[in-house]
Amino acid sequence: MADDCLFCKIAAGEIPSDEVYSDEEFYAFRDINPGAPTHCLIVPRKHIARITEAGPEDEALLGRMFLRANAIAEAEGIVEPGFRYVINCNEDGGQTVYHIHLHILGGRALSWPPG
Ligand code: 5GP
Ligand code: ZN
Repeated sequence: MADDCLFCKIAAGEIPSDEVYSDEEFYAFRDINPGAPTHCLIVPRKHIARITEAGPEDEALLGRMFLRANAIAEAEGIVEPGFRYVINCNEDGGQTVYHIHLHILGGRALSWPPG
């Protein structure tokens, strides 16, 4: 748990959120400013500031995060017709919260490339 990290506090329940999934390793919740009808964020409880700071010790954690996200996408009913995973990194990548999180977006046709 990092001091003054919004997503550490949300994962710990110190700041309220709309929970989608929770286990000992991950917490998922609905984005407060959704960009699509389904917009969830899954975060590891472990504080990692950005995806490029993940190390070899995080390899399995990141793999499990995608498998958990798959289960959320299934539960949200967005696998068909399709959905998107996004991880933003640093300023030009659009990262605003420096605790890694995987966006799960679906429920409408998404444009490409991103803006
Ligand atoms: P980023 O831009 O870092 O990839 O994504 C951060 C996301 O967190 C944004 O989509 C933003 O709407 C969401 N967000 C920021 N603050 C909060 C909050 O307090 N609660 C929730 N549920 N989502 C938040
Ligand atoms: Zn954190």
